[in-house]
Amino acid sequence: MSRQLIIVLGDQLDLQASCFDGADPKHDLVWMAEAVEESTHVWSSKSRIALFLSAMRHHARALSAAGWRVDYRRLDDAGIAGSLAAELRGAIGRHRPERLVMTAPGDWRVLEALKAVAAESGLALDIREDRHFFSTVREFAAHAKGRKQLRLEYWYRELRVRHQVLMDGAEPAGGQWNFDADNRESFGKEGPPPIPEPARFKPDDITQEVLQLVANRFADHPGSLDSFAWPVTRAQALQALQRFIRERLPHFGRWQDAMWTGEVWLFHSHLASAMNLKLLSAHEVVQAAQAEWHAGRVDLASAEGFIRQILGWREYVRGIYWLHMPQYLERNALQATRGLPAFFWDAKTDMACLRDALELTLQHGYAHHIQRLMVTGLYALLLGVEPKAVHAWYLSVYVDAVEWVELPNTLGMSQYADGGLMASKPYAASGKYLQRMGNHCKGCRYDPAQATGEKACPYTTLYWDFLLRHEDRLAKNPRMVMQVKNLKRLDDSKREAIRAQALEHVRRVGAESP
Ligand SMILES: Cc1cc2nc3c(=O)[nH]c(=O)nc-3n(C[C@H](O)[C@H](O)[C@H](O)COP(=O)(O)OP(=O)(O)OC[C@H]3O[C@@H](n4cnc5c(N)ncnc54)[C@H](O)[C@@H]3O)c2cc1C
Ligand code: SF4
Repeated sequence: MSRQLIIVLGDQLDLQASCFDGADPKHDLVWMAEAVEESTHVWSSKSRIALFLSAMRHHARALSAAGWRVDYRRLDDAGIAGSLAAELRGAIGRHRPERLVMTAPGDWRVLEALKAVAAESGLALDIREDRHFFSTVREFAAHAKGRKQLRLEYWYRELRVRHQVLMDGAEPAGGQWNFDADNRESFGKEGPPPIPEPARFKPDDITQEVLQLVANRFADHPGSLDSFAWPVTRAQALQALQRFIRERLPHFGRWQDAMWTGEVWLFHSHLASAMNLKLLSAHEVVQAAQAEWHAGRVDLASAEGFIRQILGWREYVRGIYWLHMPQYLERNALQATRGLPAFFWDAKTDMACLRDALELTLQHGYAHHIQRLMVTGLYALLLGVEPKAVHAWYLSVYVDAVEWVELPNTLGMSQYADGGLMASKPYAASGKYLQRMGNHCKGCRYDPAQATGEKACPYTTLYWDFLLRHEDRLAKNPRMVMQVKNLKRLDDSKREAIRAQALEHVRRVGAESP
């Protein structure tokens, strides 16, 4: 009989995690399970399923090599149950542990399911802090208490000071907290400079087996396995981190928001999946960027721009998620009820920017932040798609998708469904923004300058229609003053023409409300 059953979830692949504190490999047993429900509760993409399964199997091997006994249940094992809860029940029956131990799960749904199993089994469940993060859920709750509005900037500054990141004593290094203004360049007419090849990893035997399993078992799931080369072990994740820091970080800040047709990787890090699986700790990623700046190999704007994403946004969205779940999932402040167009699953659209973002997403399980926020997300926002449908899509298609980070980004930042809890205004823009930030409009049948007529860009039509639909609400937001003022310049006939063209577009893409 084992003393403790140590629960390790698919996104907790860290040998140093708190669940191992005080544990004894001689008496305690590690439990991991590939529950099919985790791949099907949303229509998870093939690459996302493959990444989780491959990384989990590699981690189980690393645990065994470190001396742990591991009860590892594979998706293709005989008698495997469909859900994590059912599998855990089975493991408790097999091993009859005295107690259960785990590092706090990232997702509310999983935590609730496992707590329920522990309660029905009459076993204590010892849930420990996740040291992967800079802050705790409790610290964020304390920060949020009494504040009417939460803003990333204040939380980020608090963490910079507390963890002495990019600080010069009590002051921010370089005298500025934020270099956002330096980090918004496009590539210009010439396009991007030569882009260094990112670290990609040839599938080994374990990954090959998983790819085969996923291709057979989840053949009808979206996406592709053809280019699968993600880091699936800690050693590979560390290699990917080093390559990014050396080769791409120097350009990260400057072109953080830029897009270019067919270019998926650009100067981003592609480290979100490795971090979310906990193959890398947030601390070591931030330290690596800070050390590069200290060594004079990257400028402060790039180092700060990158660090803000992790020490700032990533910690912030986690705080928001845990502060507001489960009600957060139900938020729909703009009362959006339209459907998600079917082309989100096959990229068959004539909008060049959207087609490119969708094709890259489905092919690689990846798109960078501005493609997510200002191409796919913006389109869904302007169209008025029901937030839960948008959420299910983002949770399905990206290899780095886990609910605690995906949900606030989708519902809050991108769809404004939380009514401004996460972002101070909706990220609403017309096709002109996309024209400025990339080269897609040149190869598109639409014209971003036109809101009505044969060549009108759907983003531009829908942008004005969005402002018209929400004029009263937006007029109360000081950060929307300019946009609402421009709206007032439209006469009645123009307004009518925009409304009619928007409705026609909604019908054409099959997004009518039920
Ligand atoms: C609608 C929408 C959905 C998203 N869904 C996810 C998701 O499921 N999983 C996920 O990790 N990120 C998500 N993001 C945030 C961000 O887009 C991705 O983290 C980033 O694009 C991943 O690529 P990268 O690793 O190359 O990031 P980089 O551009 O290199 O950024 C560095 C790191 O900063 C962190 N980061 C950057 N932006 C954010 C952010 N807004 N919130 C939290 N962390 C951030 C990530 O860990 C990322 O790896 C989403 C953003 C939007 C707008
Ligand atoms: S014209 Fe509109 S739809 Fe076409 S690429 Fe530009 S922004 Fe996208």
